[in-house]
Amino acid sequence: MFFGGPCAVENHDQIFRIAEFVKSCDTNLLRAGAYKGQVYPFSNGKPEYLGMGDEGVKLLAEVQDKLGMKVACDMQSVRQAEILKDYNIAFPQVGARNCDSLELLREFKRIFKDTDKTIILKRGTSTTIQELLGYAEHLGGPERVILCERGICSFDRTPQTRWRIDLVGIAQIRTYYPKYRIIADPSHGSGDRNLVYLLSKSLLPIVDGLMIETHYNPDSSPTDSKQTIGFGEFKRIAKLYKDTRYGRSKEA
Ligand code: PEP
Ligand code: MN
Repeated sequence: MFFGGPCAVENHDQIFRIAEFVKSCDTNLLRAGAYKGQVYPFSNGKPEYLGMGDEGVKLLAEVQDKLGMKVACDMQSVRQAEILKDYNIAFPQVGARNCDSLELLREFKRIFKDTDKTIILKRGTSTTIQELLGYAEHLGGPERVILCERGICSFDRTPQTRWRIDLVGIAQIRTYYPKYRIIADPSHGSGDRNLVYLLSKSLLPIVDGLMIETHYNPDSSPTDSKQTIGFGEFKRIAKLYKDTRYGRSKEA
C-alpha cells in the first residue's frame, strides 16, 4: 500500500494534477484531506486553511471515478463520515487527534459496518500501542482497520522535529499482533521533508505500506508544507517501494 498526495485538496486542477502524477508512479492510492482540523485556528493573524470540506470530498470522488484511484481522506465527525460514505471514498481515515475519541470510533464503525471499506486509524501522538489496539477494536478490529504510525511526541525539541516515528511500536505490532496491517507516515512522522526519503527507506522493510505527502509546489501547500516533498523526491521513493518491497502485501 503506497499512498501519496497532498495534505489537503485545494481545487480541481491541483488534486487532478497531483493524482495523475501519483498514478504515474505505479500506485493507485491517493491521500488528501478535505476537512483540515487545525491546531491553531489563526496564524500571523490570518485564519488557517480548513480545507475544501464537502466540495473537496466531491473532487476526491471524481478522482476515484475518472482515474480509477482509491482515496484516503480524514473525517472528524459523524456528518463527515456520512459524506465520505455517500461518495464511496475508499479509505476513510481517523486522524491522530481523534484516535482516542471512543464514541466517534464506535459511530464510525456503525456507519461503515455494511460497506467494504477499511478505515485507516492514525496513532495519536501520545497514544500507547496497547491503547491503539484497543481503539482499533472499537472500529472493528484487524479486518476493518489499517493502523498508521505517524509519529509520537518526544522530549527532543530540535527545531525541525515535529514528531518521531516509533519503530519499536511498529515492530511490536508486526511481532505480537500480526493480524493488523500497519503503514507508516514519514511526513507527519518527522515534520521535515528532508528526512522523508531516508525514513521511507528504513521503514519499507517492516511496514505494510507508506503514506507520504507530496505536491508539485510543496512551499505553496496551505498545510504541512515543510514536510511535503516535491515530485522528484516522491518518484525516488516510489521506485524504492517497488524495488525493495518484499513485505506481506502485494497491493500497490
Ligand atoms: C493528515 O494525514 O494530513 C493528518 C492530518 O494526519 P494526522 O492525523 O496524523 O495528524
Ligand atoms: Mn498533513
